[in-house]
Amino acid sequence: MFSAVAKAGWLLGLREKNKTSLPPIVKAGDPVFHEPAQEVDPKEIGSDKIKKTVDDMVKVMRLAPGVGLAAPQIGVPLRIIVLEDTKEYIRYQTKEEIKAQDRHPFDLLVILNQKLKKKSNRTALFFEGCLSYQLPGWLGNDDLEMTNLQRHLATEFEMKDLGVLSVDGYIAVVERNLDVEVTGFDCNGQPTKVDAKGWQARILQHECDHLDGTLYVDKMVSKTFRITKNLGLPLAEGCPKLGVR
Ligand code: ZN
Repeated sequence: MFSAVAKAGWLLGLREKNKTSLPPIVKAGDPVFHEPAQEVDPKEIGSDKIKKTVDDMVKVMRLAPGVGLAAPQIGVPLRIIVLEDTKEYIRYQTKEEIKAQDRHPFDLLVILNQKLKKKSNRTALFFEGCLSYQLPGWLGNDDLEMTNLQRHLATEFEMKDLGVLSVDGYIAVVERNLDVEVTGFDCNGQPTKVDAKGWQARILQHECDHLDGTLYVDKMVSKTFRITKNLGLPLAEGCPKLGVR
């Protein structure tokens, strides 16, 4: 079963009414996050409706800004993820951080009906966040009519203070696999395959988890959970060290 509101909205085409505005990012607490998303009907792949959803997802992700988004995060309970990482996002991190996280820019990826496979047992622990755990307020995404200045500040804020997945909000350490393979279909129904490692593998696992009804807080080292501003504070005693295991 899917979130009644999200499902009804999607199936009845209620969102069509609002063609010009982008959907807001659904926030933690919505049941859509705890239910597995449905496969996109192969007959629907390539349809205008699915292309519009993907288009909205890309715009919402870039505006947030974030490095990944899953369809449930805009209230669409379907197995679709989008992700990208850019030089611009990465430039706020130190060389040491980039190296430790094995983070590299990559072009936009759109994957439908994805399957994720772990390719090794190597794992790493780092802080990550989620756009659905962003604090409400002027940095929030509820109002996508933010001024350019606010948008600029939001970007700066995210990158300087966090440099990972989320903007202002909550973060926690999550152990993720370092080598994964994701197969699926692109927007046009062509089979696609991504061999990912390091930070890209982390983003993929985070987004694929969304489609299985799993959030980063379900996997986090709970004593590391904190507000973004406290990223730099020491870890509590007993917490595992950050980095590759
Ligand atoms: Zn997320």
